[in-house]
Amino acid sequence: MLFSLDTNIQFINGVGPRRAALLKKEIGIETLGDLITFYPFRYIDRSRFWAIREVHPDMGYVQLRGRFTSMSIVGEANKRRLVMIFTDGIGEMEVVFFKGISWIQKRIVMGNEYTLFGKVSVFHESINMVHPEVEPPSTDPIRGTATLQALYPSTEALRNNGISQKFFSRIQADVWVKMADRLEETLPAPLRQSQKLVSKTIALKNIHFPESNVMLAEAQRRLKFEELFYIQLDLLKQKSIRHIQIKGARLLRIGAHFHHCFALLPFELTNAQKRVIKEIRNDVGSGKQMNRLLQGDVGSGKTLVALLSALIAIDNGLQACIMVPTEILAQQHFASISKMTAGGPTVIGLLTGSTKASERKMLAQKLLDGSMHLLIGTHALIEEQVQFSRLGFVVIDEQHRFGVDQRARLWAKNPTPPHILVMTATPIPRTLAMTLYGDLDVSVIDQLPPGRQPIKSLHFHDSRRTHVYGFMKEQIEKGHQIYVVYPLIKESEKIDFQNLEQGYQTILQAFPKPAYQTSVVHGQQKAPEKASYMELFAQGKTDIMVATSVIEVGVDVPNASVMVIESAERFGLSQLHQLRGRVGRGPAQSYCILLTGNKLTKEARQRMELMCATNDGFEIAEADLRLRGPGDMEGTQQSGLAIDLKIANIAKDGQLLELARRIAQQIIDIDPQFQLPENKILIPKLQRLRKNVVDYSRIS
Ligand code: ADP
Ligand code: MG
Repeated sequence: MLFSLDTNIQFINGVGPRRAALLKKEIGIETLGDLITFYPFRYIDRSRFWAIREVHPDMGYVQLRGRFTSMSIVGEANKRRLVMIFTDGIGEMEVVFFKGISWIQKRIVMGNEYTLFGKVSVFHESINMVHPEVEPPSTDPIRGTATLQALYPSTEALRNNGISQKFFSRIQADVWVKMADRLEETLPAPLRQSQKLVSKTIALKNIHFPESNVMLAEAQRRLKFEELFYIQLDLLKQKSIRHIQIKGARLLRIGAHFHHCFALLPFELTNAQKRVIKEIRNDVGSGKQMNRLLQGDVGSGKTLVALLSALIAIDNGLQACIMVPTEILAQQHFASISKMTAGGPTVIGLLTGSTKASERKMLAQKLLDGSMHLLIGTHALIEEQVQFSRLGFVVIDEQHRFGVDQRARLWAKNPTPPHILVMTATPIPRTLAMTLYGDLDVSVIDQLPPGRQPIKSLHFHDSRRTHVYGFMKEQIEKGHQIYVVYPLIKESEKIDFQNLEQGYQTILQAFPKPAYQTSVVHGQQKAPEKASYMELFAQGKTDIMVATSVIEVGVDVPNASVMVIESAERFGLSQLHQLRGRVGRGPAQSYCILLTGNKLTKEARQRMELMCATNDGFEIAEADLRLRGPGDMEGTQQSGLAIDLKIANIAKDGQLLELARRIAQQIIDIDPQFQLPENKILIPKLQRLRKNVVDYSRIS
């Protein structure tokens, strides 16, 4: 039969329909093309033989050479196993098989030399090896004299069904023989020359069957580059199409809405705020649609920038909306923005999940007849029933909570797409931002309003709780307020709630009424109850706010100067930093107290140490990316963008990513339609990438 990259893997010798189905289910491999791009996660040096005395379970796969000296069958019925003693002449260990016993029994000859390849484990305090690969020493025809062997990611189910590392090597070799001369180059020749990248064929050959360490490194560099390059090419191409094709309302006027609010401001804008407002004005004055990401640390004053920009749109006869991720935050924004625009011409509305039907009707009316200028709300804003007469400016706060599709549904609310300002309070490492938001323009507020004292962060184990309570009392005596936050993790809402309830009771005992007043806010309360507790705290009528991490975003109570984070080890770095940003907003010295269990993993300890060492959100975001990897970063799952890279690693391959983006930009600048002969090669792969991305701009 004729094989192509689209051929199903069941037609490879030794695979068949049953294993093919399993491979698809377990690791998503369906075609020969999938298999060729199923990259090893590690390589082992098969020229290296270890002595039994040297090996230990932490080593992963090892290779041994020696002889079997005994063989016996032990155990009854389903515990039956074949136990053999293997020796390299100095040390010895047990080798155990639970499956394929009779087959092994027939094949192994006592006293002959074999090579064992497997993972070392410990059983009853001595080492052994379970189900290793056993081979007579011989040269492998595919690898020739090469000694690096690829190891592929696998699963329990695969291993239990005879899909071993050896099996992977064998089918990769088989596919290689069938496909090698039909693999097409996917990078332009001049680019490969200038960047000294090996050809696709050489890269794929060496990624699976490395000739040497040097060739392996070259293969990795080429494939990583290609992966990052195409993502950037796609993002930048989308961006350039938008710049060329999509018109936006041209906003040139600055009028009463802006001036009124500006005059009311009790402070000067920071230079960073001024710069960003200028960048936004340039965008919206250009006649093109703006798509801008605004990054800035917690408390850097993004909301104000967003509001002033929205007011410019309103001054130009358009409507604006601000979408935030939680109801509490929407209420807070509504309250503070109402205050900031009080007495002026701007009409502002609030729309959340708990807005009453009658109220909704009224809002809908005013939005449609254009008498409402600015709507603030949760994702209730996206719903189809919400229609504007001329929506011109959309602010999405705390973007990481929203998906790309939600962003896009706001686009569709006006015939000319509105200008879009996306704000994130979780600073994102540059490299991740380039991938997640690579199609947006980026502004950064890299300066906090003046007069803020850096927050002091301290880490205590639970055993020091009394000490911490003593400190909290001192702070309350000084007239300050305190947050006590418990982790909220969706999967175990019940347990989280119990934790919070218990914590709340403990706090009530340690801080009894009437000397101390405590508010509590959690997910099981109805919106009005939440709001009233928030209000009590915001007005300074309660000293302590016990809450789940719902307060993480946005809440602004300048008199709160202490943030106590319970079970801090259960939070990621970015989240801890977000929570910490709730304090330090007033003139007083603020504190963040991280309470953890007495025993911490190494990683958790690193997180606590870093939190105590720095207040810089970008530094923390970089470290978060390093410690957890991009897959776990907040926002990456919902982002809808291809962040699950096959070979490159955003945390580790930052330089290559920068290079890939620079080169992609050069190509787009010179040849946006890929019409030069050498660039035609880019079109098919880019189209394939596009096919996997939903085009939200077409969703109405
Ligand atoms: P972010 O949304 O970036 O976390 P906010 O917009 O909520 O920050 O601003 C945090 C606090 O700082 C608010 O109380 C806001 O009124 C105040 N603020 C904003 N800009 C300035 C400024 N230029 N000078 C002083 N205070 C400011
Ligand atoms: Mg904010």
